[in-house]
Amino acid sequence: MNSAEIRRAVSEFIDTEFDPALSLIEWRTRLLDGGWAAPLWPADWFGRGFNQEQASVVGEVFRERGVVPAASIGPRGLAAETILAHGSDDQKRRYLRPILTGEHAWCQLFSEPGSGSDLAGLSTKAERDGDGWRINGQKVWNTSAHHADFGILLARTNFDVAKHQGISYFLIDMRQPGVEVRPLKQMNGHASFNEVFMTDAHVPAHDLIGGEGNGWAVAATTLSYERQGFRRRHGQTGKAGGQGLVHKEYEQEILIANEPYTWYPQREGRPDLVLKRAKETGAINDPVIRQEIARLHSLVKANELSRVRAADEQRAGSQQVIPAGSIGKLAASVIARQAAHVHTLISGADAMLAGPDSAESGMIAETLISVPAISIAGGTDEIQKNIISERVLGMPKDIRSDTGPFRDIKRNA
Ligand SMILES: Cc1cc2nc3c(=O)[nH]c(=O)nc-3n(C[C@H](O)[C@H](O)[C@H](O)COP(=O)(O)OP(=O)(O)OC[C@H]3O[C@@H](n4cnc5c(N)ncnc54)[C@H](O)[C@@H]3O)c2cc1C
Repeated sequence: MNSAEIRRAVSEFIDTEFDPALSLIEWRTRLLDGGWAAPLWPADWFGRGFNQEQASVVGEVFRERGVVPAASIGPRGLAAETILAHGSDDQKRRYLRPILTGEHAWCQLFSEPGSGSDLAGLSTKAERDGDGWRINGQKVWNTSAHHADFGILLARTNFDVAKHQGISYFLIDMRQPGVEVRPLKQMNGHASFNEVFMTDAHVPAHDLIGGEGNGWAVAATTLSYERQGFRRRHGQTGKAGGQGLVHKEYEQEILIANEPYTWYPQREGRPDLVLKRAKETGAINDPVIRQEIARLHSLVKANELSRVRAADEQRAGSQQVIPAGSIGKLAASVIARQAAHVHTLISGADAMLAGPDSAESGMIAETLISVPAISIAGGTDEIQKNIISERVLGMPKDIRSDTGPFRDIKRNA
């Protein structure tokens, strides 16, 4: 379908099906059944098999018409993409619909106190237990776990094979007695993530995904989506503020689901505030600060153009290995740090103050203490550099001291 045909089809669907008096779930059920909830997904699973460009036309019409989209905020997107790629039909049937309607929230249970960058060194244990699995272990930094219904979980099912081979990928019910979630407070005052303790937690056999021992390959799908920055594959973002039950419930959903992410724009360094602040404070007239602003602007532009080039090459069917997610993620860190640097040059000591009378009502201070997170979340800068050097530049791999059975690998106690 071309752009005009998509616009016409989506508009006709909205004209006949959208009614602001519907509840959020009623409307999203129509959206799913109509095949407009996830246009990039296959027709069998609520989509149309569109490419990114076609899907963004759908998103445009939704925004223009003020129509509420399918649920997509937070780790539920990572869960959905992974289940779509690796799940059985039964798993897709049980989980995809309530993710898109927003009935189920998800969290990602990957990192552990001893395994972040070295994710494959995880030691949470999954043992066979009747017709299912018994899980014991601790996870950490789990965004949104405090209001998640389900989690995507990596756990070790075999300690006697090499570390990447003994991992399995599970879908776990977070609302069971064996799962305890403890929120963590961050230095910027927010509490987005948690520690999660699993003590004899249960996962039924039908919630193992991708087969026993294949967890690392399944996790690669999740991580590739994460590195693309929770990119909204559905091409649909909603706007709160309309009248009627559906909008009221949507606003409520955004309030809860968005709460852990309100500081995410600040962790990107808020380059959008730089020129405004420079003009307001007169810093724009300082030649040294102007140079730094120009440097920031060049980085932002170069990153945008690289993204467009990667998308074009992908569209043209390039076989070249370009870890666009790793390069883009690293660029985001460089930009955030430069933006934070420029903000300190512009605001001086005011950048340290919070509260209504401070620079941008505390937004600059929040930016400075949130920026470090972008170099860590979803894989640190150093790990992205390792990926780029080994997979793109063909440089020699790190010397490994962690081969052989996992049980025999020396680890921190
Ligand atoms: C905002 C945010 C949200 C997050 N959300 C989640 C979530 O929802 N679910 C989840 O499971 N996790 C989540 N995480 C955790 C995140 O994935 C880990 O923090 C990250 O992978 C780094 O692991 P670590 O903290 O254990 O650091 P470590 O791995 O201990 O790293 C410490 C330092 O050593 C460096 N280093 C480690 N290995 C190497 C190497 N081989 N070569 C060079 N340098 C190296 C690192 O770059 C880093 O500077 C989140 C983190 C943040 C900041």
